[in-house]
Amino acid sequence: MNVTAVKHNKLMLSRLQLFRNVDLNSATMDQLLSQCNYRTMPEGETLLSPDVENPYLYVIITGRFGIRFGPDDEEIPLTAVEPGECVGEMSFFDSRLPSTQVFASEPSTVLQIDQDILWRMVSSSHEIARNLLYIMSERVRYSNLVIADSFEMQRMYQQFATIDALTGLHNRGWLDDMFEREIRRSERDRLSAALLMIDVDHFKRINDEFGHLAGDRVLVTVGENIKKPLRPNDLVARYGGEEFSVLLPETSVENAVTIAERLRERVSKARPGTFENLKLPGVTVSIGVAGFRPGGSLETLIASADNAMFDAKKAGRNCVCVVSAA
Ligand code: GH3
Ligand code: MG
Ligand code: MG
Repeated sequence: MNVTAVKHNKLMLSRLQLFRNVDLNSATMDQLLSQCNYRTMPEGETLLSPDVENPYLYVIITGRFGIRFGPDDEEIPLTAVEPGECVGEMSFFDSRLPSTQVFASEPSTVLQIDQDILWRMVSSSHEIARNLLYIMSERVRYSNLVIADSFEMQRMYQQFATIDALTGLHNRGWLDDMFEREIRRSERDRLSAALLMIDVDHFKRINDEFGHLAGDRVLVTVGENIKKPLRPNDLVARYGGEEFSVLLPETSVENAVTIAERLRERVSKARPGTFENLKLPGVTVSIGVAGFRPGGSLETLIASADNAMFDAKKAGRNCVCVVSAA
């Protein structure tokens, strides 16, 4: 770091946001500016750090600075600060440690203004006070944008976390949450609801004969054919492996059986196409149906539909079995 006191180029300073419309030739400003130094910094040097107190406001004169959360943060800098912009103004107002690390991303020069000098500038010039307010409001606006962005990212990650990557259907985590909410709603509104547990028949054979990737393709086809004919309010999820689960709100067990039968037939007729020049065979599913009974839990509802599904397996597969209440 190289700190120099040089004669100030007032024309250049008057173009900076901090000094906009400020009379830099007044005796007071001239005297205060004479106590400010320039600091030249090589690329990579740190200007502000979250663990070092900062007694200055810096105005970037030349070069460019990057901002990141900390020295170990390998990520691309959060943002860049360019000539005319300020850093360190937060510590000026709240006297706390800097919240981020600011480093020279190329050889740079900054005007270094001691906080004490800055307060004296603020007291002697309304324009400096107003310019500082403007700089602060820009900073707050930017922080709000960063926060809004990070909410958006969170929402996106949440979305990914609830989707099964293979089939694009919702996953088990989502099922646990959403099915639970839906049956509580059914209970509260005294509505019927039914659950289908769907298991692909002899799926292991597909993997054994055609390979796991071909098996994946078959699972995607099954998922699509379960999802497509359902109503928008029906909840569908991949329960795990070659098992799928459907919650049918406002549906009696009788109607659920009809729907299950339609799904079963549709899957049995679907053809997954070819995989690496091999024509893949269609598969069938066994479906267990259980009706929700007020006071019951999601676990018992799933267990009942699962039992019914095993009955369907025992009955020869490619069929629908039912438990009337859970
Ligand atoms: P059943 O008719 O009794 O249900 O017989 P099954 O072969 O379908 O049942 P089993 O539980 O013996 O085998 C299920 C197979 O599903 C075993 C497992 O490797 C396969 N499997 C589970 N998840 C996936 C997956 O994501 N992709 C592929 N390709 N196979 C999977
Ligand atoms: Mg299974
Ligand atoms: Mg199976």
